[in-house]
Amino acid sequence: MPKDHARKRRARRTARSAGSSYTSANAGTLHAHPAPVLITVSGAPFGVSRTADMSAASAAIAAGLADCKPCRASAMARLMLGDSLVLAVLAASLPQVPNRELSSITYIFCNDVQPHEYPPYTYDFTAGLGAVQRQSFLEDLVDIWTALIPHLSGDTGTDLTAMIINLTPAPPLDYRAGRTGFVPTPQGPFPALTLTSPDMTGSIEDLSERCGFPLYTWNTLPDVMDWVLQQHPVTLHPWGVRRVSRDGQNLTLGSGEHPAEATSEWTDAAQRAGSVLVLGLWSDGFESLIHAVQAQEIFTVRARLQPSTTRD
Ligand SMILES: [Zn+2]
Repeated sequence: MPKDHARKRRARRTARSAGSSYTSANAGTLHAHPAPVLITVSGAPFGVSRTADMSAASAAIAAGLADCKPCRASAMARLMLGDSLVLAVLAASLPQVPNRELSSITYIFCNDVQPHEYPPYTYDFTAGLGAVQRQSFLEDLVDIWTALIPHLSGDTGTDLTAMIINLTPAPPLDYRAGRTGFVPTPQGPFPALTLTSPDMTGSIEDLSERCGFPLYTWNTLPDVMDWVLQQHPVTLHPWGVRRVSRDGQNLTLGSGEHPAEATSEWTDAAQRAGSVLVLGLWSDGFESLIHAVQAQEIFTVRARLQPSTTRD
């Protein structure tokens, strides 16, 4: 029997046992295609308090792999009308895909949003799309994942139903408060805090590009910016900085569990000034900072103190 003929016979048998795709779609009863499990993803990394139910995405991918148009259309309709957080989850972990034709909205995402590797931006992007853009972006996301998923388990005969895929984004970059000290300014010595990244996830590129820290110039005092120094409520030892933007997206650098040591001279000076300089990345002491500023790039913001910790 010619190969093609055998394939057609098999296809007919499958169609009989499963029912015609179109008939079942019209009747509202779709197939159960072998699907990877996409586990529910927390919205926390994206700055939202919901979770993302990824079952429609899983169904769309499974239908795509089975080349079943009605099931794919049904799942895509659910995704179109569903939570933008699901699109954000698919987009946040999207791999680089060379040689693929993408819609213009997907190009914009890949060029302007994806490089930030900052899930809240990805969510804002997906939530802000109009219907046409959303449809185009969704088609690309599902196409890319459909092409990719069979390769995730290697070449050892993919059993889709045995695949459990977690698209939770990588944890945020880790910054810590380093040391407290003083830097020279035209107004005299000014209280300052260094930021470090002990696990090296943070970088000066991230500080300057994502966080918007301007380059630090020795012996200057920049203007106060939208950043607030974070301090232990009792000891007033600083542990980081936080920026609250108008759209409510917080960005916090540092961990309350890891405050820097601070003398009472330093905390008094910070309270008097109402602001401090926060400098990064720098893990050494302040004595060697001048050489660092001359030799490499240090970035800084002037962060104000919380009103409750400033002296009346
Ligand atoms: Zn189907």
